[in-house]
Amino acid sequence: MSVTIVRGAIAVIDGSGRVREGDVTIADGVVVESADTTDAEIIDATGCVVTPGLVNAHHHLLQTAFRTLPGTRGIPMREWLPAMAAAYTAAGVDPELTGLAARAGLAEALLCGVTTVADHHLTWPADADTVGMARAAATAAADLGARLVFVRGAARDDPQTAAASAEDIVSALVPNRAGGVSADGMLQVAVGPAGVHSDPRETFALLGEVAQRHGLRRRTQANEVVDVEIAVSRYGKRPLDLLEEWGWLAPDVTLAHLCDVSDDEIARVAASGVSATHAPGCDVPMGWGVAPVRRLLDAGVAVGLGTSGGGSNDAGHLLADARLALQVSALVGPQLPASDVLTMATAGSADGLGRPELGRLTPGSAADLCLWDVSGVADAGVADPVAGLLWAAPGRRPRTVLVAGHVVVDQGRLIRADEREVVARLFERVKR
Ligand SMILES: [Zn+2]
Repeated sequence: MSVTIVRGAIAVIDGSGRVREGDVTIADGVVVESADTTDAEIIDATGCVVTPGLVNAHHHLLQTAFRTLPGTRGIPMREWLPAMAAAYTAAGVDPELTGLAARAGLAEALLCGVTTVADHHLTWPADADTVGMARAAATAAADLGARLVFVRGAARDDPQTAAASAEDIVSALVPNRAGGVSADGMLQVAVGPAGVHSDPRETFALLGEVAQRHGLRRRTQANEVVDVEIAVSRYGKRPLDLLEEWGWLAPDVTLAHLCDVSDDEIARVAASGVSATHAPGCDVPMGWGVAPVRRLLDAGVAVGLGTSGGGSNDAGHLLADARLALQVSALVGPQLPASDVLTMATAGSADGLGRPELGRLTPGSAADLCLWDVSGVADAGVADPVAGLLWAAPGRRPRTVLVAGHVVVDQGRLIRADEREVVARLFERVKR
Protein backbone atom coordinates (compact mmCIF):
# COMPACT_ATOMS: atom_id res chain seq x y z
CA MET A 1 0.00 0.00 0.00
CA SER A 2 1.32 3.44 -0.90
CA VAL A 3 0.75 5.98 1.88
CA THR A 4 1.18 9.74 1.65
CA ILE A 5 0.70 12.24 4.45
CA VAL A 6 0.05 15.91 3.83
CA ARG A 7 1.39 17.47 7.01
CA GLY A 8 1.54 20.81 8.73
CA ALA A 9 -1.25 22.71 6.98
CA ILE A 10 -2.64 25.83 8.64
CA ALA A 11 -6.12 24.51 7.86
CA VAL A 12 -7.72 21.63 6.00
CA ILE A 13 -11.05 22.49 4.36
CA ASP A 14 -12.83 19.24 3.72
CA GLY A 15 -15.33 20.38 1.08
CA SER A 16 -18.42 20.06 3.22
CA GLY A 17 -17.84 23.45 4.82
CA ARG A 18 -15.81 22.00 7.73
CA VAL A 19 -12.38 23.40 8.58
CA ARG A 20 -9.98 21.34 10.66
CA GLU A 21 -6.34 21.05 11.56
CA GLY A 22 -4.02 18.07 11.23
CA ASP A 23 -2.80 15.69 8.57
CA VAL A 24 -4.47 14.41 5.45
CA THR A 25 -3.61 10.72 5.15
CA ILE A 26 -3.81 9.08 1.75
CA ALA A 27 -3.62 5.35 1.04
CA ASP A 28 -3.63 4.13 -2.56
CA GLY A 29 -5.18 7.32 -3.85
CA VAL A 30 -7.96 7.56 -1.28
CA VAL A 31 -8.26 9.77 1.82
CA VAL A 32 -8.27 7.59 4.94
CA GLU A 33 -8.74 8.15 8.65
CA SER A 34 -5.40 6.51 9.45
CA ALA A 35 -2.88 4.11 7.94
CA ASP A 36 0.44 2.43 8.69
CA THR A 37 2.73 5.40 8.13
CA THR A 38 6.10 3.61 8.51
CA ASP A 39 7.19 4.18 4.91
CA ALA A 40 4.86 7.05 4.17
CA GLU A 41 5.83 9.86 1.84
CA ILE A 42 5.46 13.20 3.63
CA ILE A 43 4.29 16.29 1.76
CA ASP A 44 5.09 19.43 3.70
CA ALA A 45 2.09 21.76 3.81
CA THR A 46 3.62 24.33 6.15
CA GLY A 47 2.17 27.76 5.38
CA CYS A 48 -0.60 26.24 3.27
CA VAL A 49 -4.35 25.84 3.37
CA VAL A 50 -5.39 22.45 1.97
CA THR A 51 -8.62 22.05 0.00
CA PRO A 52 -10.14 19.33 -2.13
CA GLY A 53 -9.19 19.63 -5.80
CA LEU A 54 -11.65 22.03 -7.41
CA VAL A 55 -14.26 20.62 -9.78
CA ASN A 56 -15.10 22.71 -12.84
CA ALA A 57 -18.61 21.53 -13.62
CA HIS A 58 -19.02 23.45 -16.87
CA HIS A 59 -16.30 24.10 -19.42
CA HIS A 60 -16.04 24.00 -23.20
CA LEU A 61 -12.38 23.04 -23.55
CA LEU A 62 -12.32 23.52 -27.33
CA GLN A 63 -12.84 27.25 -26.81
CA THR A 64 -9.43 27.40 -25.12
CA ALA A 65 -8.13 27.73 -28.68
CA PHE A 66 -10.43 30.71 -29.34
CA ARG A 67 -9.90 33.18 -26.52
CA THR A 68 -10.28 36.95 -26.99
CA LEU A 69 -11.15 36.49 -30.66
CA PRO A 70 -11.90 39.81 -32.35
CA GLY A 71 -15.59 40.08 -33.15
CA THR A 72 -16.74 37.84 -30.29
CA ARG A 73 -16.82 40.34 -27.44
CA GLY A 74 -19.45 42.82 -26.35
CA ILE A 75 -22.01 41.41 -28.74
CA PRO A 76 -25.33 39.69 -28.09
CA MET A 77 -25.39 35.89 -27.96
CA ARG A 78 -27.31 35.70 -31.24
CA GLU A 79 -24.27 37.28 -32.94
CA TRP A 80 -21.71 35.51 -30.75
CA LEU A 81 -22.84 32.04 -31.81
CA PRO A 82 -22.23 32.54 -35.57
CA ALA A 83 -18.98 34.44 -34.89
CA MET A 84 -17.64 31.50 -32.88
CA ALA A 85 -18.97 29.01 -35.45
CA ALA A 86 -17.07 30.83 -38.21
CA ALA A 87 -13.87 30.60 -36.17
CA TYR A 88 -14.37 26.87 -35.62
CA THR A 89 -14.93 26.34 -39.35
CA ALA A 90 -11.84 28.35 -40.27
CA ALA A 91 -9.67 26.37 -37.85
CA GLY A 92 -11.18 22.97 -38.74
CA VAL A 93 -12.31 21.10 -35.64
CA ASP A 94 -10.76 17.64 -35.70
CA PRO A 95 -9.17 15.26 -33.19
CA GLU A 96 -5.86 17.15 -33.33
CA LEU A 97 -7.35 20.54 -32.44
CA THR A 98 -9.70 18.99 -29.88
CA GLY A 99 -6.75 17.29 -28.20
CA LEU A 100 -4.44 20.32 -28.23
CA ALA A 101 -7.15 22.66 -26.90
CA ALA A 102 -8.09 20.14 -24.21
CA ARG A 103 -4.43 19.73 -23.30
CA ALA A 104 -3.99 23.47 -22.85
CA GLY A 105 -7.29 23.86 -21.00
CA LEU A 106 -6.60 20.93 -18.69
CA ALA A 107 -3.03 22.05 -18.02
CA GLU A 108 -4.42 25.46 -17.09
CA ALA A 109 -7.00 23.75 -14.91
CA LEU A 110 -4.44 21.76 -12.92
CA LEU A 111 -2.19 24.80 -12.50
CA CYS A 112 -5.24 26.63 -11.08
CA GLY A 113 -6.15 23.82 -8.68
CA VAL A 114 -8.92 22.25 -10.77
CA THR A 115 -8.54 18.48 -10.72
CA THR A 116 -11.78 17.54 -12.54
CA VAL A 117 -13.17 19.29 -15.60
CA ALA A 118 -16.54 18.65 -17.24
CA ASP A 119 -15.98 19.42 -20.91
CA HIS A 120 -19.30 20.11 -22.63
CA HIS A 121 -18.17 19.61 -26.21
CA LEU A 122 -20.65 21.19 -28.63
CA THR A 123 -18.80 21.43 -31.94
CA TRP A 124 -19.08 18.40 -34.22
CA PRO A 125 -18.49 19.18 -37.90
CA ALA A 126 -20.27 16.97 -40.43
CA ASP A 127 -18.28 13.78 -41.04
CA ALA A 128 -16.05 14.50 -38.05
CA ASP A 129 -14.22 11.63 -36.41
CA THR A 130 -16.26 12.10 -33.24
CA VAL A 131 -14.75 9.15 -31.39
CA GLY A 132 -11.31 10.44 -32.33
CA MET A 133 -12.18 13.86 -30.94
CA ALA A 134 -13.46 12.43 -27.66
CA ARG A 135 -10.46 10.13 -27.42
CA ALA A 136 -8.08 13.06 -28.02
CA ALA A 137 -9.59 14.97 -25.09
CA ALA A 138 -9.45 11.85 -22.91
CA THR A 139 -5.81 11.24 -23.85
CA ALA A 140 -4.90 14.83 -22.98
CA ALA A 141 -6.43 14.37 -19.52
CA ALA A 142 -4.72 11.02 -18.97
CA ASP A 143 -1.33 12.42 -20.03
CA LEU A 144 -1.56 15.35 -17.61
CA GLY A 145 -3.14 13.39 -14.76
CA ALA A 146 -6.44 15.33 -14.67
CA ARG A 147 -9.91 13.87 -14.30
CA LEU A 148 -12.18 14.52 -17.28
CA VAL A 149 -15.92 14.31 -17.73
CA PHE A 150 -16.39 14.33 -21.47
CA VAL A 151 -19.90 15.51 -22.28
CA ARG A 152 -21.02 14.49 -25.78
CA GLY A 153 -22.95 17.64 -26.52
CA ALA A 154 -24.94 18.73 -29.52
CA ALA A 155 -25.67 22.11 -31.04
CA ARG A 156 -28.03 21.85 -34.01
CA ASP A 157 -26.54 18.43 -34.81
CA ASP A 158 -28.70 15.88 -36.57
CA PRO A 159 -30.36 14.10 -33.61
CA GLN A 160 -29.79 10.56 -34.92
CA THR A 161 -26.15 11.27 -35.77
CA ALA A 162 -25.51 12.82 -32.35
CA ALA A 163 -27.04 9.85 -30.54
CA ALA A 164 -25.12 7.31 -32.65
CA SER A 165 -21.90 9.21 -31.95
CA ALA A 166 -22.63 9.31 -28.22
CA GLU A 167 -23.17 5.55 -28.30
CA ASP A 168 -19.85 5.07 -30.15
CA ILE A 169 -18.01 7.30 -27.67
CA VAL A 170 -19.36 5.32 -24.73
CA SER A 171 -18.26 2.05 -26.37
CA ALA A 172 -14.81 3.39 -27.16
CA LEU A 173 -14.02 5.26 -23.93
CA VAL A 174 -15.94 3.59 -21.10
CA PRO A 175 -17.05 0.19 -22.41
CA ASN A 176 -19.27 -1.85 -20.12
CA ARG A 177 -19.14 0.72 -17.33
CA ALA A 178 -22.55 1.38 -15.84
CA GLY A 179 -22.66 5.08 -15.01
CA GLY A 180 -20.14 5.90 -17.72
CA VAL A 181 -17.21 6.19 -15.29
CA SER A 182 -13.93 4.37 -15.97
CA ALA A 183 -12.74 1.81 -13.41
CA ASP A 184 -10.05 4.19 -12.13
CA GLY A 185 -12.51 7.09 -11.94
CA MET A 186 -10.32 9.29 -14.15
CA LEU A 187 -12.72 9.44 -17.11
CA GLN A 188 -16.48 9.84 -17.30
CA VAL A 189 -18.79 10.22 -20.28
CA ALA A 190 -22.03 12.19 -20.15
CA VAL A 191 -24.42 13.65 -22.73
CA GLY A 192 -26.05 17.01 -23.21
CA PRO A 193 -27.60 19.16 -25.91
CA ALA A 194 -26.55 22.84 -25.82
CA GLY A 195 -30.07 23.89 -24.87
CA VAL A 196 -33.64 24.20 -26.06
CA HIS A 197 -32.55 27.28 -28.04
CA SER A 198 -30.40 25.14 -30.32
CA ASP A 199 -31.66 21.58 -30.23
CA PRO A 200 -35.08 20.03 -30.88
CA ARG A 201 -37.00 17.68 -28.65
CA GLU A 202 -35.72 14.70 -30.65
CA THR A 203 -32.10 15.43 -29.71
CA PHE A 204 -33.02 15.60 -26.03
CA ALA A 205 -34.98 12.36 -26.39
CA LEU A 206 -32.31 10.39 -28.26
CA LEU A 207 -29.37 11.54 -26.15
CA GLY A 208 -31.56 10.83 -23.12
CA GLU A 209 -32.03 7.25 -24.36
CA VAL A 210 -28.26 6.80 -24.63
CA ALA A 211 -27.92 8.15 -21.09
CA GLN A 212 -30.58 5.80 -19.79
CA ARG A 213 -29.02 2.78 -21.50
CA HIS A 214 -25.66 3.37 -19.84
CA GLY A 215 -26.61 5.27 -16.68
CA LEU A 216 -24.91 8.45 -17.89
CA ARG A 217 -25.42 11.88 -16.40
CA ARG A 218 -27.30 14.41 -18.53
CA ARG A 219 -26.37 18.09 -18.77
CA THR A 220 -27.66 21.09 -20.64
CA GLN A 221 -27.67 24.86 -20.47
CA ALA A 222 -30.80 26.79 -19.58
CA ASN A 223 -32.25 30.23 -19.00
CA GLU A 224 -29.61 32.52 -20.28
CA VAL A 225 -31.15 35.38 -22.22
CA VAL A 226 -31.22 33.95 -25.74
CA ASP A 227 -32.40 30.57 -24.46
CA VAL A 228 -35.48 32.21 -22.96
CA GLU A 229 -36.10 34.45 -26.01
CA ILE A 230 -35.91 31.57 -28.47
CA ALA A 231 -38.00 29.21 -26.33
CA VAL A 232 -40.74 31.82 -26.05
CA SER A 233 -40.70 32.77 -29.73
CA ARG A 234 -40.36 29.22 -31.10
CA TYR A 235 -42.53 27.28 -28.67
CA GLY A 236 -44.46 29.94 -26.70
CA LYS A 237 -42.95 28.47 -23.53
CA ARG A 238 -40.04 29.08 -21.22
CA PRO A 239 -37.02 26.72 -21.32
CA LEU A 240 -37.84 24.96 -18.05
CA ASP A 241 -41.41 24.25 -19.26
CA LEU A 242 -39.93 22.55 -22.31
CA LEU A 243 -37.30 20.66 -20.34
CA GLU A 244 -40.03 19.40 -18.01
CA GLU A 245 -42.18 18.25 -20.94
CA TRP A 246 -39.16 16.60 -22.56
CA GLY A 247 -38.24 14.67 -19.42
CA TRP A 248 -35.16 16.71 -18.66
CA LEU A 249 -36.09 17.96 -15.20
CA ALA A 250 -34.83 14.96 -13.24
CA PRO A 251 -32.20 14.13 -10.62
CA ASP A 252 -29.66 12.93 -13.21
CA VAL A 253 -29.70 16.30 -15.00
CA THR A 254 -27.57 19.39 -14.33
CA LEU A 255 -28.50 22.76 -15.79
CA ALA A 256 -25.78 25.34 -16.38
CA HIS A 257 -26.33 29.11 -16.16
CA LEU A 258 -29.96 29.50 -14.92
CA CYS A 259 -29.64 33.29 -14.91
CA ASP A 260 -33.23 34.25 -15.56
CA VAL A 261 -35.41 32.11 -13.27
CA SER A 262 -38.55 32.99 -11.35
CA ASP A 263 -39.34 31.84 -7.81
CA ASP A 264 -41.88 29.42 -9.23
CA GLU A 265 -39.25 27.96 -11.55
CA ILE A 266 -36.76 27.64 -8.71
CA ALA A 267 -39.36 25.68 -6.74
CA ARG A 268 -39.91 23.35 -9.72
CA VAL A 269 -36.16 22.87 -10.22
CA ALA A 270 -35.80 22.00 -6.52
CA ALA A 271 -38.76 19.60 -6.54
CA SER A 272 -37.41 17.80 -9.61
CA GLY A 273 -34.03 17.07 -8.03
CA VAL A 274 -32.20 18.73 -10.91
CA SER A 275 -28.84 20.27 -9.97
CA ALA A 276 -27.40 23.55 -11.21
CA THR A 277 -24.05 24.93 -12.29
CA HIS A 278 -23.35 28.60 -11.68
CA ALA A 279 -20.99 30.17 -14.22
CA PRO A 280 -20.63 33.88 -13.43
CA GLY A 281 -17.35 34.20 -15.34
CA CYS A 282 -19.39 33.61 -18.50
CA ASP A 283 -22.77 35.03 -17.50
CA VAL A 284 -21.46 38.43 -16.42
CA PRO A 285 -19.33 39.31 -19.48
CA MET A 286 -22.03 37.94 -21.79
CA GLY A 287 -24.53 40.28 -20.13
CA TRP A 288 -26.85 37.45 -19.09
CA GLY A 289 -27.20 38.62 -15.50
CA VAL A 290 -26.49 36.89 -12.22
CA ALA A 291 -28.07 33.58 -11.29
CA PRO A 292 -29.93 33.76 -7.96
CA VAL A 293 -27.65 31.26 -6.25
CA ARG A 294 -28.79 32.08 -2.72
CA ARG A 295 -32.41 31.38 -3.64
CA LEU A 296 -31.45 28.17 -5.45
CA LEU A 297 -29.47 26.94 -2.44
CA ASP A 298 -32.22 27.95 -0.01
CA ALA A 299 -34.74 26.02 -2.12
CA GLY A 300 -32.55 22.94 -1.74
CA VAL A 301 -30.98 22.84 -5.21
CA ALA A 302 -27.44 21.39 -5.35
CA VAL A 303 -25.32 24.09 -7.00
CA GLY A 304 -21.87 23.64 -8.48
CA LEU A 305 -19.51 26.09 -10.14
CA GLY A 306 -18.15 26.23 -13.66
CA THR A 307 -16.16 28.61 -15.81
CA SER A 308 -17.82 27.86 -19.16
CA GLY A 309 -15.51 28.15 -22.15
CA GLY A 310 -12.78 30.42 -23.45
CA GLY A 311 -15.11 32.06 -25.97
CA SER A 312 -16.96 33.87 -23.20
CA ASN A 313 -14.69 33.49 -20.18
CA ASP A 314 -11.08 33.70 -21.25
CA ALA A 315 -9.80 31.99 -18.12
CA GLY A 316 -10.36 28.48 -16.81
CA HIS A 317 -9.51 29.67 -13.31
CA LEU A 318 -12.33 28.35 -11.13
CA LEU A 319 -11.10 29.95 -7.90
CA ALA A 320 -11.12 33.35 -9.62
CA ASP A 321 -14.72 32.69 -10.60
CA ALA A 322 -15.51 31.64 -7.04
CA ARG A 323 -14.35 35.11 -6.03
CA LEU A 324 -16.47 36.64 -8.78
CA ALA A 325 -19.45 34.60 -7.56
CA LEU A 326 -19.00 36.17 -4.13
CA GLN A 327 -18.73 39.65 -5.56
CA VAL A 328 -21.80 39.50 -7.80
CA SER A 329 -23.99 37.57 -5.36
CA ALA A 330 -24.67 40.77 -3.46
CA LEU A 331 -26.34 42.22 -6.58
CA VAL A 332 -29.17 39.68 -6.44
CA GLY A 333 -29.65 39.06 -2.72
CA PRO A 334 -27.64 38.57 0.41
CA GLN A 335 -23.95 38.04 -0.22
CA LEU A 336 -22.94 34.40 -0.27
CA PRO A 337 -20.46 33.33 2.40
CA ALA A 338 -17.08 32.16 1.08
CA SER A 339 -17.60 28.73 2.61
CA ASP A 340 -20.77 28.20 0.52
CA VAL A 341 -19.00 29.16 -2.68
CA LEU A 342 -15.99 26.96 -1.95
CA THR A 343 -18.39 24.08 -1.30
CA MET A 344 -20.04 24.82 -4.65
CA ALA A 345 -16.64 24.69 -6.40
CA THR A 346 -15.85 21.32 -4.84
CA ALA A 347 -18.60 19.06 -3.44
CA GLY A 348 -21.42 20.95 -5.21
CA SER A 349 -19.88 20.47 -8.64
CA ALA A 350 -19.00 16.85 -7.88
CA ASP A 351 -22.56 16.05 -6.81
CA GLY A 352 -23.91 17.43 -10.10
CA LEU A 353 -21.60 15.00 -11.90
CA GLY A 354 -22.88 12.11 -9.80
CA ARG A 355 -19.45 11.79 -8.17
CA PRO A 356 -19.84 12.05 -4.39
CA GLU A 357 -16.28 10.73 -3.92
CA LEU A 358 -14.87 13.92 -5.51
CA GLY A 359 -14.65 17.45 -4.13
CA ARG A 360 -14.21 16.30 -0.53
CA LEU A 361 -11.40 15.30 1.82
CA THR A 362 -13.46 13.12 4.13
CA PRO A 363 -12.36 9.48 4.61
CA GLY A 364 -13.21 7.46 1.52
CA SER A 365 -12.92 10.44 -0.82
CA ALA A 366 -10.57 10.46 -3.80
CA ALA A 367 -7.25 12.04 -2.83
CA ASP A 368 -7.56 15.04 -5.15
CA LEU A 369 -6.28 18.05 -3.24
CA CYS A 370 -4.53 21.39 -3.45
CA LEU A 371 -1.97 23.07 -1.22
CA TRP A 372 -2.49 26.84 -1.36
CA ASP A 373 0.48 28.75 0.07
CA VAL A 374 -1.01 31.55 2.17
CA SER A 375 2.26 32.67 3.76
CA GLY A 376 2.81 35.62 1.39
CA VAL A 377 2.05 39.28 1.81
CA ALA A 378 -1.30 39.06 -0.02
CA ASP A 379 -2.58 36.88 2.82
CA ALA A 380 -1.04 38.87 5.66
CA GLY A 381 -3.65 39.74 8.27
CA VAL A 382 -6.20 37.20 7.07
CA ALA A 383 -8.33 36.00 10.00
CA ASP A 384 -10.51 33.37 8.27
CA PRO A 385 -8.67 30.84 6.09
CA VAL A 386 -11.73 30.05 3.95
CA ALA A 387 -12.70 33.67 3.33
CA GLY A 388 -9.06 34.56 2.76
CA LEU A 389 -8.62 31.81 0.21
CA LEU A 390 -11.37 33.27 -1.98
CA TRP A 391 -11.28 36.99 -1.22
CA ALA A 392 -7.54 37.65 -0.82
CA ALA A 393 -4.87 37.20 -3.51
CA PRO A 394 -7.02 37.27 -6.69
CA GLY A 395 -5.78 34.79 -9.27
CA ARG A 396 -3.92 32.72 -6.72
CA ARG A 397 -2.59 29.36 -7.88
CA PRO A 398 -1.82 26.33 -5.74
CA ARG A 399 1.72 25.35 -4.89
CA THR A 400 1.03 21.62 -5.12
CA VAL A 401 -1.82 19.59 -6.60
CA LEU A 402 -2.53 15.89 -6.15
CA VAL A 403 -4.94 13.80 -8.18
CA ALA A 404 -5.75 10.30 -6.94
CA GLY A 405 -2.81 10.67 -4.55
CA HIS A 406 -0.30 11.52 -7.30
CA VAL A 407 1.47 14.87 -7.42
CA VAL A 408 0.60 16.47 -10.78
CA VAL A 409 1.63 20.06 -9.96
CA ASP A 410 4.55 20.93 -7.70
CA GLN A 411 5.97 24.38 -6.95
CA GLY A 412 3.39 25.72 -9.41
CA ARG A 413 4.67 23.59 -12.32
CA LEU A 414 3.18 20.67 -14.19
CA ILE A 415 4.89 17.38 -13.40
CA ARG A 416 3.86 15.42 -16.49
CA ALA A 417 4.15 18.00 -19.25
CA ASP A 418 6.14 21.04 -20.25
CA GLU A 419 3.83 24.03 -20.06
CA ARG A 420 5.69 25.89 -22.84
CA GLU A 421 5.32 22.93 -25.17
CA VAL A 422 1.57 22.74 -24.46
CA VAL A 423 1.23 26.42 -25.33
CA ALA A 424 3.44 26.31 -28.42
CA ARG A 425 1.63 23.37 -29.98
CA LEU A 426 -1.78 25.00 -29.63
CA PHE A 427 -0.56 28.31 -31.10
CA GLU A 428 1.06 26.42 -33.95
CA ARG A 429 -2.16 24.54 -34.72
CA VAL A 430 -4.35 27.67 -34.78
CA LYS A 431 -1.62 29.72 -36.50
CA ARG A 432 -1.52 32.54 -33.98
ZN1 LIG B 1 -21.89 27.34 -21.15
